[in-house]
Amino acid sequence: MRIYRKEDFNERDFWKIFCMGFGPGETMEDVKRKQEKLLEESGVKPLAETDKAIECGDTISIHGKLYFVAVGGKSKCVVRDIDHISKFPETYEGCDHLYCPYCGEMVEDVFELPDNGTHRCEKCGSLFRFEKECIIEYNSYPVEAATIKEI
Ligand SMILES: [Zn+2]
Repeated sequence: MRIYRKEDFNERDFWKIFCMGFGPGETMEDVKRKQEKLLEESGVKPLAETDKAIECGDTISIHGKLYFVAVGGKSKCVVRDIDHISKFPETYEGCDHLYCPYCGEMVEDVFELPDNGTHRCEKCGSLFRFEKECIIEYNSYPVEAATIKEI
């Protein structure tokens, strides 16, 4: 298993290589061959190689540095740098955004999440519990003052 680091690719090459679709009549082997060619042309060398099984979503350590497996495969995978995973995770309450207590990463697409539950961080792979609090606010706008009857 060859391990590539996402940060070593420029964005365009990365998408071209790892999000490649099948052309008309192409087999899996054709796509793999094209992918290998593009990988070679990109000049990016693997960060490491291993015999160990690595899957998308794993958190791995290479020489003490942490990485999150963002793209998995049979013969190669792509990892992203993890700055840190806190041994003393923070609790975030009353925030405008949802943050991972372990690495501090802001969760995107929160509108897809239910009102509460658990979420696995896409940056570091840690699991945390969350609650969505909706604060109801009221607004008022003048329309017409009451008519006062003189008695
Ligand atoms: Zn995290």
